[in-house]
Amino acid sequence: MALLIETGLSDWISDAEIADTIRKMLPGADVRTPDTIGDTSEISMVAVVGLSNDHPKRLPNLQLVQKLGAGVETIVSNPHLPEHVRIARLKPDAPAQGIAEWFVAYILHRQRNMAFHEAAQRNSEWLPKAPVFTPDTVVGVLGLGHIGARSAKMLRAIGFQVMGWSRSPKEIEGVTCLHGEDALPVLLGQCDHVCAILPSTPQTIGLFDAQMLAVMKPGSQLLNAGRGDLIDEDALIKALDQGTPGHAVLDVTSKEPLPTDSPLWTHPCVTITPHVSGWHLGEALADVADNFQRLSAGTPLLHEVDRARGY
Ligand code: NDP
Repeated sequence: MALLIETGLSDWISDAEIADTIRKMLPGADVRTPDTIGDTSEISMVAVVGLSNDHPKRLPNLQLVQKLGAGVETIVSNPHLPEHVRIARLKPDAPAQGIAEWFVAYILHRQRNMAFHEAAQRNSEWLPKAPVFTPDTVVGVLGLGHIGARSAKMLRAIGFQVMGWSRSPKEIEGVTCLHGEDALPVLLGQCDHVCAILPSTPQTIGLFDAQMLAVMKPGSQLLNAGRGDLIDEDALIKALDQGTPGHAVLDVTSKEPLPTDSPLWTHPCVTITPHVSGWHLGEALADVADNFQRLSAGTPLLHEVDRARGY
């Protein structure tokens, strides 16, 4: 049984570096890269960022696709991946902490009128403007999984009123948790800031269409760090022009990199960050090594994806 590391991303971390790290964790393990691939019929697990269409063909005895990240939508929907091949993802602490901080940063940026004061300073103007009081502010978190639950707890600890939304019922101390389709408009109508950290699935794609955007609180802020296809971007621009919501902060967009001619770049009510909210992988490679051992031993995998559910 061999593990193939094939990220195709030379600007992030090289396949050889990942392979070396895993070999140190698992001395003697058969860990390969595209340069040392050898007999492909021996490869039972591949660690990827994205799965290419020819991976399943090239790796006839593949049993496990390990995503080096969290979003698995393109792997789950790959029509060439045989049904018996399992999928696992990573759930490291570092990006969860990073995304929670990204939400907090952009919420406080608006609460504390930071853009306004920076602009005033450039004109040497002393213009006091009242910050919004945190305990009076309601923040909604859409998705209460690994990252969403952590974000909700961090926001609650700062003193915001926090509401959360997920598919199944949840209990998080101090957070008003709602679930199911009908509850989303109820939550949106009450929130000053809405933080979306949902996976891309057939149920979430296009969820924020014109109708859903219209039920948000006028002037509220929509922050998306999950996947760009959650939001109908044409509808968002029209909604922002009407003031509901009042601002959008997007770390993810339907097409990445965001095309230079996208009107999102220049819209005065849009802030773009280039998919950087959950940057650090932390110690996640230990879980890749662990999953290779678990696959070999036939024991339950870490963070296995439910292929039918899509996340
Ligand atoms: P989890 O699988 O741990 O959590 C997903 C959450 O979304 C769960 O609470 C789930 O509900 C909820 N959910 C899924 N579908 C629906 C639905 N139809 N209606 C309501 N709630 C739903 O994932 P993570 O928190 O680890 O990550 C979430 C997503 O964030 C990833 O899939 C990825 O796309 C994105 N991401 C983005 C990063 C970035 O850098 N911008 C980095 C990392 C992740 P339930 O609990 O009931 O199942």
